[in-house]
Amino acid sequence: MNAPDRKKTAGGKDDGPWLSIVIPVYNEEANLPELLQRCLAVGDNLGRRYEIVLVDDGSRDASEQIIRAAVKDHDDKIAGVFLNRNYGQHAAVMAGLAHASGAVIVTLDADLQNPPEEIPRLLVPIEDGCDVVGSVRMDRKDSLFRRLSSRIINKAVQRATGVMMTDYGCMLRAYSRQIVNAMLQCREHSTFIPVLANSFANRTAEIEVSHAERSNDESKYDIWKLINLQFDLLTSMTTFPLRLLSILGGGLALLGFMFSLLLFVMRFAYGAEWAAEGVFTVFAILFIFIGLQLLAIGVVGEYIGRIYNDVRDRPSYFIREVIGTGASRATDKMLDSKTTGVMAD
Ligand code: UDP
Ligand code: MG
Repeated sequence: MNAPDRKKTAGGKDDGPWLSIVIPVYNEEANLPELLQRCLAVGDNLGRRYEIVLVDDGSRDASEQIIRAAVKDHDDKIAGVFLNRNYGQHAAVMAGLAHASGAVIVTLDADLQNPPEEIPRLLVPIEDGCDVVGSVRMDRKDSLFRRLSSRIINKAVQRATGVMMTDYGCMLRAYSRQIVNAMLQCREHSTFIPVLANSFANRTAEIEVSHAERSNDESKYDIWKLINLQFDLLTSMTTFPLRLLSILGGGLALLGFMFSLLLFVMRFAYGAEWAAEGVFTVFAILFIFIGLQLLAIGVVGEYIGRIYNDVRDRPSYFIREVIGTGASRATDKMLDSKTTGVMAD
């Protein structure tokens, strides 16, 4: 591949685009055409150089073909990154961030629930010097379950990170280059990007954005993926549950001790007959304790599983191919660092 030639065709100037729009795509053939058309319209109105980085997260439908066609038509504006299989939204976004070269990076979902037309509004606080700009979904069009779990999570994250953000689930966000570089240096695997970004952010801002119904087909998250995501969020932001465990464990042990003391006294006060009749109660209580212990071990297991994954230090994704705007740059980087996959920086 002739890298310098490609760079020249990519826009005349040698410095990269000012804005990168990173979009994870998983089976979004129904939404992609409209998404691209609307993103291009927004970008063209900016009056600055921009690129759209589409990360195909192992889609099984025609998404890949649509992305290839789009890159062909707009080689200077659209790049495609193809992961070899489905790694999940946050890994896909990380792959996109690694290939984005803008001074400002905006992430966006492919499902058109967050209108791309809001992007210029996100950029205003960034130009005022904010590191991270989040967005709050007004009048959210999701199921009650999703809204409720988001609410709990948002409160918990606020408490743990100390950074005030109302809506962590909304992926329509803008980041400064500095924050993205910091995120790319993180080698951990179970990432939740908004939380990761906020842990490096100095100044943050939030704007309200409208939220549309998922226009075509249903959410790409099934219940298991959702549960996994919530655990990622929980364990990536805090080890507080571990401390909670010891407090809870200590309390329970004390309670159990006091209870056994009570049983002992009763046994002497009312005799063996009373104690025999109490056997079932004891069993019942025992079961409750065993249950709680198992639950506790489960949470510990979540952390250990993540430690295990990070210790193995496997790449979080492998890129099969990169085409379009950033392609030459990314390939160079990959060759430079002599890695098979990822995050060349
Ligand atoms: N997505 C992805 N990989 C996945 C699941 C989702 O790249 O395994 C993408 C998906 O294409 C979309 C975004 O992540 O662009 C958010 O997915 P979705 O809209 O289904 O999630 P929800 O809106 O229900 O949170
Ligand atoms: Mg969505």
